[in-house]
Amino acid sequence: METAEIAIAFAPDLHVFVGGAERADRPAVRVDGASTLGHVVESIGVPLTEVGELLVDGGPVGTPYIPRGGERVEVRGVVRPQALPGPARFLLDVHLGKLARQLRLLGVDTAYESTDIGDPALAARSAAEQRVMLSRDRGLLRRRELWAGAYVYSHRPEEQLRDVLSRFAPPLAPWTRCTACNGVLRTADKASVQGRLEAGTERSYDVFAECAACGQVYWRGAHHSRLTAIVDDAVREFGERAPARS
Ligand SMILES: [Zn+2]
Repeated sequence: METAEIAIAFAPDLHVFVGGAERADRPAVRVDGASTLGHVVESIGVPLTEVGELLVDGGPVGTPYIPRGGERVEVRGVVRPQALPGPARFLLDVHLGKLARQLRLLGVDTAYESTDIGDPALAARSAAEQRVMLSRDRGLLRRRELWAGAYVYSHRPEEQLRDVLSRFAPPLAPWTRCTACNGVLRTADKASVQGRLEAGTERSYDVFAECAACGQVYWRGAHHSRLTAIVDDAVREFGERAPARS
């Protein structure tokens, strides 16, 4: 099989995925005249979920394009906010539990697996429920079955939250979802939740909500200030929208 070289440049936000050699200005990469550009980019280590525009000699191409020797390729990152083919719903892998709770706190529909069900099962759920798979596992993000996927760039939950909110701009509706199970909260009066509360709570707080799915009781005044700060910061930066009526 004939071999040739292309000059390929990655956008700075993709440098986290490539080695030192590929970070240089247009390093040469061998191509075989049969592999697609998508395969070439992925084999260098960049998940295609993170790739925006692909340019060959200045003109846009798709991932099925087969590069030939002598071409100059430019690989750009995704544009933020990134459009999705449907509503912004998410599925998080086992390592992103804190991020899952924070997204639910903001009312974002977030499924989370607290046990490791394996990459094939996660990818199948992403496809079946049309959820964006969020992960720091590049192997998982390479799975073709995914409805959509995104690499989570930081290992710190606060930075992960800003990363996801700025990337997908999901509508925020704080205090409308159960942080434990992702169920939708409904208002509940004091009488209906009596007996499920500590005595002090019953005396001090009047606004109650309960999870329609798991029955967990919530009361607004008792939220830890750290949670309130997460909500306030997110709403200040990304805005709040009325929850969708279903
Ligand atoms: Zn619940």
